[in-house]
Amino acid sequence: MELPSLQHIYIGGRWVTPATTATIEVENPATGRIIRQVPAGHTEDVDRAVAAARSISTEWSASSIEERISSLARLRTMLVESLEEMALIITRDVGSPLNFSRRAQAGLPLLVLDGYLDALRSDSGEERIGNSLVLREPAGVVAAITPWNYPLHQAIAKIGAALASGCTIVLKPSERAPLSAYLLTALIDRLDLPDGVFNLVPGDGRGAGAPLVVHPDVDVVSFTGSVTVGGAVAAAAARTGKKVCLELGGASTTLVLPDADLADAVEDAVGSALRNAGQSCTARRRLLVPASRLSDVVEAAGAMMARYTPGDPEDPNCRLGPLASAAQKERVLGFLRCAQASGAQQVLPAMDVPSSGHFVAPTLWTGVRPDSELVQEEIFGPVLSVLTYTSEDEAVEITNDTSYGLDVAVWSADTDRAIAVGRRLRVGQVEVNGGGFNPAAPFGGYKRSGVGRELGLYGIREFQEVKSLQLPV
Ligand code: NAD
Repeated sequence: MELPSLQHIYIGGRWVTPATTATIEVENPATGRIIRQVPAGHTEDVDRAVAAARSISTEWSASSIEERISSLARLRTMLVESLEEMALIITRDVGSPLNFSRRAQAGLPLLVLDGYLDALRSDSGEERIGNSLVLREPAGVVAAITPWNYPLHQAIAKIGAALASGCTIVLKPSERAPLSAYLLTALIDRLDLPDGVFNLVPGDGRGAGAPLVVHPDVDVVSFTGSVTVGGAVAAAAARTGKKVCLELGGASTTLVLPDADLADAVEDAVGSALRNAGQSCTARRRLLVPASRLSDVVEAAGAMMARYTPGDPEDPNCRLGPLASAAQKERVLGFLRCAQASGAQQVLPAMDVPSSGHFVAPTLWTGVRPDSELVQEEIFGPVLSVLTYTSEDEAVEITNDTSYGLDVAVWSADTDRAIAVGRRLRVGQVEVNGGGFNPAAPFGGYKRSGVGRELGLYGIREFQEVKSLQLPV
């Protein structure tokens, strides 16, 4: 399938000409070459898209559960059929290794849709509380604003929940990686949803994101992105009285308890830190181990990380692609320079990186202070720091001592012990002994990592209002 015309935006069930001729260049981060251009959406485009979404909102909110299930199931089938094409587009847009793009970038959204389908099939949306009949009803028009690191997954997490809950939607994908949203929109176009249920307005934050957030006809803003922009979005949305869901950053930890199997725990930590070149909100860049096991851990982690040679993401053997942009590379290198200056030690031998594109070699750090930027900030690069503790209480304290609260992995020979530690952590997800990501379970963070939850039934509920009908007794 060919990408649809990239000169257009999608409003009211058709591809239309945007309000201005302004465009945004899309770069392949592995080569630094401009590969496409997309429209830079403008307030006028946002107004048209929201008007289209609003005009069909009442009708779509009355759609049957069967109709929503059928739409989501057909979208899933189309995503399966276009998986190869989608994976390649995302590799060229984001720089993710092609195998990873197939498995995660294009594959994970299928599981996310399964989570919504299961929730729709099992949940009536109603409950009795005493003399009240409590109804969950569609909230109306959802503005979905997404980042570049998992562009399809983040779009599907929001579109799936919106369609499942009976909401209409305007998607504003990241200007850094908008191409998968075009292919996705072409698939949604073939679903024959009522005109206006889904709309696409590409563009940057200022031109298209900000007007969406304050639009009076938007009922819910669902934002995934950085803490800084998320804060601005929440403040702007609050002034117009809308509901806001925020999925923001993280500074996550792999916590290895003294009895844990080192090989499994370290492999998991390295995989998490280097996945998608470290550009995952759940990337665990802190590996917290008993002080007595530091040298074993550093040796094992170093040997594993040495296998992540940066290279062409379209090469089937590639495990580490480029960072997504020159700005991202500069940001990461800045954090690394600060770490060096602060006396932390980089223990991995230097690796060559391709001369074109935005590649950064993986680095492994020791001697990092728990309060330093390298472990407190969201680096978004292929970096792992090994920290130590001497007691379980101290391990919990260090793990919780961050302004983020997205994800922690706990490893122990005793699963009950790992669960007990997990209960003490102020994060939205705890991976116990390698327990995998569950796209039907709620996803989100404590503290600066966000507000609200996505995925499965919890994700659908974010896009619903609750009504109590008080019945006579
Ligand atoms: P970003 O905050 O720069 O941009 C995110 C989106 O917001 C983009 O579409 C951008 O155009 C838009 N935007 C920018 N300014 C805006 C404004 N004033 N009003 C409305 N929209 C605006 O983030 P990014 O660099 O694209 O993505 C990386 C960030 O996303 C990281 O911090 C990462 O942790 C976070 N993230 C979080 C999760 C999660 O689920 N918690 C998942 C993936 C990524």
